[in-house]
Amino acid sequence: MLEQIKDQPILELINQESRRQIDELELIASENYASPAVLAALATPLANKYSEGYSGKRYYGGNHIIDDIENLAIERAKQLFNAEHVNVQPLSGSPANLAAYLAILEPGDTVLGLRLDHGGHLSHGHPINISGRLFKFVQYEVDATTGRLNMDQVRQVAHQAKPKLIVAGFSAYSREIDWAGFKSIADEVGALTMADISHTAGLIAGRQLSNPTNIVDIVTTTTHKTLRGPRGAIIMSTTKLAKAIDRAVFPGLQGGPHDHVTAAKAIAFGEALQPAFQDYARQVIANAQLLAEQLQAKNYDIVSGGTDNHLLVIDLTKQGLAGRQAEEALQKAGLSVSRSTVPGDQRPPLNPSGIRLGTAAITTRGFGSAEIKQTANWLHQALVNHADDNYLADIKQQVTQLGRRLPPPSL
Ligand SMILES: *Cc1c(COP(=O)(O)O)cnc(C)c1O
Repeated sequence: MLEQIKDQPILELINQESRRQIDELELIASENYASPAVLAALATPLANKYSEGYSGKRYYGGNHIIDDIENLAIERAKQLFNAEHVNVQPLSGSPANLAAYLAILEPGDTVLGLRLDHGGHLSHGHPINISGRLFKFVQYEVDATTGRLNMDQVRQVAHQAKPKLIVAGFSAYSREIDWAGFKSIADEVGALTMADISHTAGLIAGRQLSNPTNIVDIVTTTTHKTLRGPRGAIIMSTTKLAKAIDRAVFPGLQGGPHDHVTAAKAIAFGEALQPAFQDYARQVIANAQLLAEQLQAKNYDIVSGGTDNHLLVIDLTKQGLAGRQAEEALQKAGLSVSRSTVPGDQRPPLNPSGIRLGTAAITTRGFGSAEIKQTANWLHQALVNHADDNYLADIKQQVTQLGRRLPPPSL
C-alpha cells in the first residue's frame, strides 16, 4: 500500500513512525496494535462513500453494500457483548459519550461521574470538556487510602445529588467494577446508568472481566484500546433506548459515518469472537499482574495495591520523581508511558505524581513472563538513572533489540 504514496515528506514521516513503533515498547495503557486486516480495511474505497442515516434508511443512494457492512458490524458487536442494540457509527470515544448524553439528558441535568484525577475521563464532566459545560456533573472519588471505589461513598453522593444519570467508567483505574452496585444505587435515586468500558472492552469481550451490558442502560466503548480495532467507538443500549441513541448519533451529533472504519470494526469484532482472543485477554491481565508484582518487589507503590485489568498506576512520590520527569526519562530509554495523576494528587495535572502503564500493546507483540520481567528491570533502571542520558541510551539499545525480535503484527 505504501508504494502508492509518492509524497516524500509524508512517506518519510510514516516510515519513521512505523520504525518507532517497532523499536520502542508501547506501555501506554490506551494503545494497541490493530491487526494487518483491520489496517487494510481502513485503506479501501469504502472511505469514498457518504452514508448518512442507517441501514435501509439512508439519505444518499448507492448504499446497499454499505448497509450489509454496517449490519455485519452490528451483528458481531451484539454477539460479542450480548447487547440488545448497537450503534457502530460513533467516530471516537468522546463523541460517543456526548451522543449518549444527548440521547437521554437535557442541558443542565445532573450527572454523576468519577473525577478525572481519580481515574475518570475528560468526557465524564470535566469543566473544560463539553460534557462539563452542558451538564451539571457531580464527581465521586476513589477512597484515598485503598485507591478503590467505595460504593457507600458513591451511594452517598448519588443520594445528595439526585442525578438523572450515573456514569461508571475509567481511564486510570485498575480494579474490577461493581456494575450491579452502580445499577442498584441508580435505581434507588431513579437515575439511568451508563458504563464507559473504553479501556477494558477487549478484556470484557475476551471473557476475563465482567460485562456491564444487560446490567446498565447504556454502554459506550472505543474500539481501539484493548479491543484492538480501528480508532472509533460504539454505543450499546437496551432496546428501549435504541431509537434515542440512534437519533442522537445521527442527525443529533454526526453527519456521515466512516464506512471504512465500520468495515474495520466488523473485522476486529470477528477477531475478538475467536477463542484465541480470550487467550490474548487472559495474557494481557497476567502480564499486568506480573509487571505490578515485579515493580512492587522493587519498592514501587502501585495505586490500589495491584491490578485486575491491563493497567497499573505507579505513585512515584516515594522515589522523589515527578510524573513528567519519569515519562521523559523512560522515553529516552525507548519505553513509552504516560504520566498520570494519583488519587488525592498534590501535584498539578500537567506534572502529576505518577505514571500509568498498560500491557495491551506489548501482549499483542507476544510478550510473556520473561519479557515482562525484563521490562520491569528496564523501567526500574531507567527511573533510577533518570538523569544519565548515556545510561538511558544504553537501555534503549537493548529495548530496540527485543522490539525487533517481537515486532507488532502489522509491521
Ligand atoms: C479513551 C477514552 C475515551 C475517549 O476516547 P477518544 O476516542 O480518545 O475520544 C472515553 N472514555 C474513556 C473512559 C476512555 O478511556
